[in-house]
Amino acid sequence: MSKGKPPSRPATQIVEGGRRSEWTHLGGSKGGIVNPPVWRASTILYDDVAALRAGVGTNEDGKLFYGRRGTPTQWSLADALTEMEPEAAGTMLYPSGVAATAAALLSVLNPGNELLMVDSAYDPTRGICEGLLKRFGITTRYYDPLIGAGIETLLTERTRAIFLESPGSLTFEVQDVPAIVAVAKARDLVTLIDNTWATSLLFPALSFGVDLSILACTKYIVGHSDVMAGSVTANAAHFPALRKTSQQLGQVLSPDDAWLAARGLRTLGVRMERHQANALKIAHWLADQPEVARVLHPALPECPGHAAWKRDFKGSSGLFSFVLKGGDEARRAALIDGLAHFGIGYSWGGYESLALPVDPQNYRTATRWHAEGPVVRLQIGLEDVDDLIEDLRAGLDRFAAGVR
Ligand SMILES: *Cc1c(COP(=O)(O)O)cnc(C)c1O
Repeated sequence: MSKGKPPSRPATQIVEGGRRSEWTHLGGSKGGIVNPPVWRASTILYDDVAALRAGVGTNEDGKLFYGRRGTPTQWSLADALTEMEPEAAGTMLYPSGVAATAAALLSVLNPGNELLMVDSAYDPTRGICEGLLKRFGITTRYYDPLIGAGIETLLTERTRAIFLESPGSLTFEVQDVPAIVAVAKARDLVTLIDNTWATSLLFPALSFGVDLSILACTKYIVGHSDVMAGSVTANAAHFPALRKTSQQLGQVLSPDDAWLAARGLRTLGVRMERHQANALKIAHWLADQPEVARVLHPALPECPGHAAWKRDFKGSSGLFSFVLKGGDEARRAALIDGLAHFGIGYSWGGYESLALPVDPQNYRTATRWHAEGPVVRLQIGLEDVDDLIEDLRAGLDRFAAGVR
């Protein structure tokens, strides 16, 4: 499928990517299967000592060496993710999104360096900075997600990398990626982005000049809330160091989990269309409800950074937040606890809807976050959107009445 193909559009790449014929055909046979199967391996057997010796110098996907270096099951998924980013040199896989973020950061930073981290980052990413990186002599400074080209004023001679997450976790500010990348390139700094919300389908980050693009594949790539996985896709300048660091860390995604992630990836296009349509309808509807102060969804004009979203993104996904008007913790819990079609839980990107109480003010250090009332984050799934709207309306009634 991937050899000698004409160039294709993203929806086609998602269907065809990584399905190399050598991974789906038996040698010499004409027929083949659709999906590269699960190859579980630790030991790889060699024909003779000479073949074993010859394998030592090779370190690339597509060459069986030892289970930790992967099998066609993982190579196929990595290949498909690489194909979705035209500027990519390769993709490394990890057993979680956090593992992917840690490996990406460790591949670009050295003791004494300073990292600039967006203040709206996913909280465990801050945990990496304040724990692991600090222990190894790397300091982090946090910046306003809306800083844009103003990031220039924060640079010092120790600054080595800028980490972006757009839109921001919980609060959904959209960053001016091209402006920040321009500053970084002029100073020879590395840029990394957590691109989990959009995926490369809606925002091909490397095409915007970002060096390393991180996905919590746990979310939309897997799409079914049953696998933990992460990936980092990098350009030619940064892929070799990323690969080396990840291998030294011993990172490997299990073949079974890679297979499930690849199965999820094939339907990303249609799932994302439905996530987008359902979430947009609910976001616009919520904006009109009297109990709602604000809806934080990048496609709505009131969302900070909306103009950047409109300019740079090909669409929106299914995750956003809304701010209630007044009320308190108990009223927010009354809203959430009685929902019939929304689960209460972490993570997102699966086929099912979730509601989560979030308190963004607790995760800021460089900026302050004010709200008119408590905040609820919604992951909108693939259900009938009118069922979800009726459920939320009943929830807002409970919020207004203050009863569970
Ligand atoms: C969930 C998440 C991660 C971490 O992914 P895990 O697979 O849960 O480790 C990273 N970034 C964002 C934005 C996330 O939502």
